[in-house]
Amino acid sequence: MTSEHPNTFAIAQQQFDLAADLLNLPQGIRAILRVPQRELTVNFPVKMDDGSTRVFTGYRVQHNLSRGPVKGGIRYHPNVDIDEVRALAMWMTWKCALVNIPYGGAKGGVIVNPQLLSMGELERLTRRFATEISILLGPERDIPAPDMGTNAQMMAWIMDTISMHRGYTVPAVVTGKPVIIGGSLGRMEATGRGVMLMVREVAHRMQRNVTDLRVVVQGFGNVGGTAALLLDQIGCRVVGLADASGGYACPHGLDVTAMRAFSEQHPTHTLEGYTASGVQHISNAELLELDCDVLIPAALEHQITSANAPHIRAAVIVEGANGPTTPDADQILTERGILVVPDILANAGGVIVSYFEWVQGLQEFFWDERDVNDRLERIMIATFEHVWQIAQTRNLPMRTAAYLLAVQRVADADQTRGVYP
Ligand code: NAD
Repeated sequence: MTSEHPNTFAIAQQQFDLAADLLNLPQGIRAILRVPQRELTVNFPVKMDDGSTRVFTGYRVQHNLSRGPVKGGIRYHPNVDIDEVRALAMWMTWKCALVNIPYGGAKGGVIVNPQLLSMGELERLTRRFATEISILLGPERDIPAPDMGTNAQMMAWIMDTISMHRGYTVPAVVTGKPVIIGGSLGRMEATGRGVMLMVREVAHRMQRNVTDLRVVVQGFGNVGGTAALLLDQIGCRVVGLADASGGYACPHGLDVTAMRAFSEQHPTHTLEGYTASGVQHISNAELLELDCDVLIPAALEHQITSANAPHIRAAVIVEGANGPTTPDADQILTERGILVVPDILANAGGVIVSYFEWVQGLQEFFWDERDVNDRLERIMIATFEHVWQIAQTRNLPMRTAAYLLAVQRVADADQTRGVYP
C-alpha cells in the first residue's frame, strides 16, 4: 500500500486495529469486527437507449448486524470497488454506534459514471440493481440511502421497485427519498448541517467567533454544497471551493449562493466555466493547501495523504467525506497540532436524519422541520461533547476517541448477544 494508491479497506482495518488495541478487545471479537459479515456482488444487464445491453457490476456489503438493521448509502462512481464498499460499510457501523442509533453498517455501489447515462438508463439501472440486492433489503433488514452519484429520485425508484415486488408501499425500505413519498423534512441538508454544527462547536472550544473563520470546502454536492451555504449563512468566510471541475478561490470570500445557483443550472451540475471578479481558478491540490482556518474535505477518499499533510495550512479539518484522510496523514496532522473532527462524527448528520425518516415511515407520523433539526442538533452536539471529553482526558486525537466509543459499543452488543450457535 502506498499513499498514492491506498487500499480503502486496509485503511479502515488499520483504524479499527488501533482502537481494538487501546480497548484490549478479546481476539474473538476483534476477528468478528475486522471483516464484513455479508457481501453480495451482482452483475446485471441494463438496456441502453441505443438498443444495446450493457452489464454493470454492483455490490452490497453488510458489515455488522448486532445493533439492529444495517444502514448505508449507495454510490454510483466509476472507481467503486469491493474494498471501498467494505470500508464504507465498516465506517457506517462505527458511525451509527457513535451517535447511538440502533443500526449496523452497510454500503452499496455500482461501477458507473452516472453523468454519462440518460435519466431513462439511470432509472433502469437503479431498478435492476435494487431487484438484484432486494434479497438483502427491507425496513427491518437493510435500508439504503443516497451517497456519491445517487440522489432522492434514485431512492424513490428503489422504494417503488421494492414496493412493486411486495405489492404494497414500503416507505421505510430506503431513506433520503423525496418528501412527497415519505422522505423526511431536513434530510437533504442533514449531512451538511451536521458539518456546519461541528465547525460551530470547534469554534466555540477554540474561543473563536464563527464570523472570523475562513473556510475551504472540497466538494460542492449534497454535503459540501450544503455545508458551504450554511457556513456562509452563519457568517463564515468561504475562501475556497472545489468540485470535479477544479478549485475556485477568493481571499475576500466567494459568493456561495451564486455558485450554488450556477452549478444547479449547469448540465453537469458542476462549477465548470464559473467566473467572477476576484475569483481565481486553482487545482484541487492547491485548494487543499490554501491558507484558511477550517478545511472541509467533502468529496472523495484519500485527499489528505502523507504527501500533502505537511503543507496543509488549516488549523482544523472537519471531514464531510468518508475517509478523506489516510492514517499516515493523520499522524502528521496530529504532530502538527491540526485538529481533525473525524468523518464518523462530522458527517453523521445524514444517517441521524435517515434514522428519523425511517422512524417516521414506520410510524406513519411525520415531524416538522424544526423538530428534525432540533433533534439532529442535540445528538450531534452531545456526541461531539462526549468525543471531545475522551480526547481531552486521554490526550488522544478526536478520531481515536470516537473509535474508542463506537467500537466499544459494537463489541459490547456482540458480546452480549454471544456467538450463535
Ligand atoms: P455528491 O455526489 O452530491 O457530491 C460530490 C461532489 O464532489 C460533487 O460536487 C463533485 O463534483 C465533487 N467531486 C468529485 N470528484 C472530485 C474531485 N476529484 N475533486 C473535488 N471534488 C470532486 O456526493 P455527496 O453525497 O456530497 O458525498 C460526498 C462525500 O460525503 C462522500 O465521501 C460521501 O460518502 C460522504 N457522505 C455523504 C452523505 C450524504 O448524506 N450524502 C452522508 C455522509 C457522508
